[in-house]
Amino acid sequence: MNKNRGKLLSFFSSWRLRWQITSLEKEKEESLLRLGKKVYELFIERKDWGREEVRENCQEVLSIEEEIEDLEENIRCLEGNKPRQVCPSCGEYIEGGSLYCPRCGFYQKQELACSQCGEKINPQDKFCPHCGQEIQKLSADKAKEKKDND
Ligand SMILES: [Zn+2]
Ligand SMILES: [Zn+2]
Repeated sequence: MNKNRGKLLSFFSSWRLRWQITSLEKEKEESLLRLGKKVYELFIERKDWGREEVRENCQEVLSIEEEIEDLEENIRCLEGNKPRQVCPSCGEYIEGGSLYCPRCGFYQKQELACSQCGEKINPQDKFCPHCGQEIQKLSADKAKEKKDND
């Protein structure tokens, strides 16, 4: 009886999460639409424009994508899958217990340090707790570049 109740509860939780993902996906579409509109306007105005002009819009889309990824991970865990870990370098979900990230090659036991002051930081930090420097997550390409140069 209890087991069934647990099953039912996790069914409802994962259903709720899926519903949240659906509404986030709608939000993402709207956000992409706004981005497209902005690009179109910039193009029509024939202004000299670059990445900076659309950075905010792109970051909005990226943060929605991250939220969706987190929710999908929650569903995976509800369905009884082993929790994965987030690569501190590129922010991708990877197999729990991995030593190296298959995406960017980052050694998972390596400690992250602030590029400004060199103090230890946590993967989830957006700003360095020691000096306030904004933490930039390395993209997979950048991290690879860095690894090749090391
Ligand atoms: Zn990685
Ligand atoms: Zn710092």
